[in-house]
Amino acid sequence: MDRQPYVYTWGDNRRFNSYAGYFGRIFGGRVQKVSIDAGFTCPNRDGLLGKGGCTYCDNDSFNPSYCVPRKSVTEQIREGIEFHARRYRRADKFLAYFQAYSNTYAPLETLKKIYSEALEYPGVTGLVIGTRPDCIDSGKLDYLADLSKKYHIVLEYGVESCYDRTLKRINRKHDFECSRRAIEETAARGITTGMHLIFGLPGETVQEMLDEADIISGLPVNSVKFHQLQLLKNTEITKEYMRNPSDFHVFDVPEYIDFMTKIIEKLRPDIVVERIAGEVPPKFLAIPAWCSLRNDQLLSLFEKNLEIKNTWQGKMREL
Ligand code: SF4
Repeated sequence: MDRQPYVYTWGDNRRFNSYAGYFGRIFGGRVQKVSIDAGFTCPNRDGLLGKGGCTYCDNDSFNPSYCVPRKSVTEQIREGIEFHARRYRRADKFLAYFQAYSNTYAPLETLKKIYSEALEYPGVTGLVIGTRPDCIDSGKLDYLADLSKKYHIVLEYGVESCYDRTLKRINRKHDFECSRRAIEETAARGITTGMHLIFGLPGETVQEMLDEADIISGLPVNSVKFHQLQLLKNTEITKEYMRNPSDFHVFDVPEYIDFMTKIIEKLRPDIVVERIAGEVPPKFLAIPAWCSLRNDQLLSLFEKNLEIKNTWQGKMREL
């Protein structure tokens, strides 16, 4: 009979190191992330590095309606907590999620003011800070390392691809070495380190995408968010796709589930998998994808596939 180490490693019956299980382990219960738009911009939009941004980017597609930078951080947290309380099970612990644009792209003093306001809100036990790997420096990292002695602090880097030719093509304006350096310097300070990766970027083969599971397993990351490429309205990448669709590998649902199963088998077992796919409101999509399958439906197809194949996260690393 196959060994099933996941039962012992993750403390739940899942075959992968899930975000829900991770929260249960570190907080002992439900924790709600509350998104905040603190009015940051991005060096790839404000002209420092460029004005056009990454070719796939449309921040409006994932920013909840209560996130408006003209409201204070405190107001956004209050409205965010009310918003979630109306829809889901009530949580009593919250993480302030700085999601839109590059949330470390400001002088340290400004960051301190914004982050402190969030941490002062009752019930907020930490911060999740999404940013670019080139928007961090030792002063900011030292400050966050200090905060993380008292709060749950996560720095989440947009890595998107491990291949420089892809990063150039999607106009990221940084290379993979920059991501590697930021991740290593963050993890070395004991700050929880996360990353995003997109599958289906132009010019990448399925094998190259699968190889990324080994590359990121070699990085000191705590968690990863996987996204399939979503072709959004009015983005450069959608125009590129219209001109040359054969340069893109567009997954359908069964293929993506199988692909993700292979990724998970190759992934280091201690890396928490925050999500296996992205989800934006259908109105933002230029090309309707997957018949509006919701993420929870996709996740249950994925878990079923792991069961059918009797496999689990990291299985291929044990062979
Ligand atoms: S770094 Fe982020 S916010 Fe800036 S253009 Fe790229 S995807 Fe958009």
